Amino acid sequence: MSEKKDFQLDTRVIHAGYHPDPIARSVSPPIYQTSTFAFESAEHGAALFTGQEQGFIYTRLGNPTIKALEEAVASLEKGYAALATSSGMAAVSTVYMTFLEKDAHMIGTAALYGASRTIVETELVRFGISSDFIDTSNLEEIKKRIKKNTKLLYIESPANPTMVMADIAACAELAHKHGLLLVVDNTFASPILQNPLELGADVVLHSVTKFINGHTDVVGGIIISKTQDLHLRLKKVLHLLGGTMDPHQAWLVLRGLRTLKLRVEKAQENAQKLAQWLSTHPKVAWVNYPGLPSHPQYELMKKQMRGPGSMISFGLKGGYEAGIKLINSVKLCTLAVSLGGIETLIQHPASMTHSSVPKKTREESGITDDLIRLSVGCEAYEDLRDDLQQGLEKC
Ligand SMILES: *Cc1c(COP(=O)(O)O)cnc(C)c1O
Repeated sequence: MSEKKDFQLDTRVIHAGYHPDPIARSVSPPIYQTSTFAFESAEHGAALFTGQEQGFIYTRLGNPTIKALEEAVASLEKGYAALATSSGMAAVSTVYMTFLEKDAHMIGTAALYGASRTIVETELVRFGISSDFIDTSNLEEIKKRIKKNTKLLYIESPANPTMVMADIAACAELAHKHGLLLVVDNTFASPILQNPLELGADVVLHSVTKFINGHTDVVGGIIISKTQDLHLRLKKVLHLLGGTMDPHQAWLVLRGLRTLKLRVEKAQENAQKLAQWLSTHPKVAWVNYPGLPSHPQYELMKKQMRGPGSMISFGLKGGYEAGIKLINSVKLCTLAVSLGGIETLIQHPASMTHSSVPKKTREESGITDDLIRLSVGCEAYEDLRDDLQQGLEKC
């Protein structure tokens, strides 16, 4: 794709990162399934190692198929460059290992993805790293927690599974005023609906396992930096830690990525209708969906996102028991964790994804026992509605 013209998002999602392969001119990028690359000569090898010449050395340090995915996602997130990782957690841990040092402090969203919080509280504490996980939708609360040794403000917006948002531009301003970096986990929104770097964030990361791959068949992650300096710092740590992506994995993710915008739009259309329908259902106590004007942050969603997405959480009047009955009664919605795939998934965070978080901490961050999470897919709306209706009748 020509680098000169700034194509629209619809075009970039399909073409970004593509350069015809020089041998066969295949339209789909080749899978360079190799661990290492042959040097032309001793001098060539030496020049690649010193950086005097550009080229590939060894797949942990770079590979053309992985590079194609990285260029595509960097373009969608409008970043300087991207680094693909073996999983979303490899992206998260690489970010922590790059930007936190001994005795550093970080501030994070309370309802963060479970593992992203647990690794700080149970593993990084061993290196003297301390943390405060708080309601990052409240700027005053963030301000109060900033200390001399605070290095990082790490947010998820919308957060999982509460759909609480943080004002990314305001967080960036606050972070930069105090010399902190702002990192945003943009997995829930995808680059189609939100670009945190444009709102002032320094680094964005994704679990590509979710929307970006979108077909529930790959685990992976990616980190996108705003500047060359941040990119080089992350790259050094990633290459040493070794949480890099595999070429075949990168090819699958790139194939999934090409339909990201179509999938996100269709799923969002379904979610909007389902959220409206659920909010008037007699068995439903409450619905959390940023696309409903009743959502407390509806205006913020319109300000910083291009749409509310396809994640819904809701509670039943019958509480925990009714929730369990519902997830055991649905036939089309699949009872599984994960999200962002073409198929609709339903799960119960208190007994599943967030069961390792103590009940009190869970409830403080809005993950009540009655909360059901729905990752709406691309099926026909009527089929999804009818499936939930027959399930709700049993509650
Ligand atoms: C799934 C997820 C992760 C972790 O990603 P993996 O690919 O499972 O390692 C991190 N953040 C969010 C918001 C997620 O949904």
